[in-house]
Amino acid sequence: MMPVEKIKLTARFKVDLVDVDEAAISEIHRLFKEYQRIVSELIEYAHSHGITSFISLYHAKCRELRQRHPTLPSHYIVTACRYAASIYESFIELKKMGMCEKERPTFKGQAIWLHKQLFKLDVEGWKVSIAAHRGRWVTLRLLHGRYHDRFKDMKLGEAWLVLKDDGNLYLNVVFRRTVVLPEIGADAKVIAVDVNENAIVYGNDDFIERFETNEGIIRTRYFLKRRRIQSKIRGRGLRARLLGKYKGRERHRVREIYHRVAKEIIDKAKKIGATVIMMEDLRRLNKEDKGSRELNGRIHRWGYRRFQQILEYQAKLHGLNVKYVDPAYTSSLCPVCGGELDLSSNGHRLMKCQRCGLEEDRDVIAVKNLVKRHYEEYMNTENP
Ligand SMILES: [Zn+2]
Repeated sequence: MMPVEKIKLTARFKVDLVDVDEAAISEIHRLFKEYQRIVSELIEYAHSHGITSFISLYHAKCRELRQRHPTLPSHYIVTACRYAASIYESFIELKKMGMCEKERPTFKGQAIWLHKQLFKLDVEGWKVSIAAHRGRWVTLRLLHGRYHDRFKDMKLGEAWLVLKDDGNLYLNVVFRRTVVLPEIGADAKVIAVDVNENAIVYGNDDFIERFETNEGIIRTRYFLKRRRIQSKIRGRGLRARLLGKYKGRERHRVREIYHRVAKEIIDKAKKIGATVIMMEDLRRLNKEDKGSRELNGRIHRWGYRRFQQILEYQAKLHGLNVKYVDPAYTSSLCPVCGGELDLSSNGHRLMKCQRCGLEEDRDVIAVKNLVKRHYEEYMNTENP
């Protein structure tokens, strides 16, 4: 049997507020305020009673909340309970890891979690209707691009209505699709992908390609731009607007590059008949690895995981398997003989094997080690 996988993708729409009528907007704002009050109250309750489970929270508070909000569709109370439980749970996790200084969890009310019963999406007319008080529906127009067309034949999941500080409204919708992927066998061709600050390197034992993303350079440039705004612009409103604008541009620019590389990798996979894309599972890094300077620089960037998600989604959509492997030693051991690697004296990205003398770019080494690991893992499961 061929493996079947469900893939999930979030589509983001900006709500068209240009011609929207006052009543609709004030209804939406009312929903946001009320939802924030409910979630905040639930978080408070969860916090004081030590409840992290959605079910327990729902049983404890649902009846009371329904009585106090009789005209609000009751599914809002369900999602508010789920939201509060998950906010409280992640607060505890962060607290445990010493990554949160706040005394209690808070909810700023920037989003409403919409259950399927709370919204209707019209993907032909690109409109959304949001359930409001007393069984009414508020319809909003969504700004959309050609890129949104691919969602039309996907299965609709839940959504979030997001209100930004600048007053803009967004709808984030989760879509699902089931894909059938080819079986991974011993003869499966793989492409391994390694990401560093300024390049994405991919390939296998037959070829290596390097895509210069210059991401580090782009990020540094935007960082300097933001620092200049911070020190030069006095008006707080204007400063926040400018910072937001450049942050958005930076993200957009980097994301566009990620999509381009993902497409290039998938085209190549199709051309050579590869059926597996391999990447490092950075969540599986152990403590010693985390301590190393090289890996630290890689993990702490927002981009790496983001790129993996884009590539994973696109790959599955095109019928390719995605496999994550433990990244331990992929950049410190020789892909040929397993000996230890040292920095070479011939250049800053070159590594040299102490045992067999192999000298190679460190990204190429990472790629070759990933490929090797795939076949090792496969052999291990075949002959235990
Ligand atoms: Zn070697």
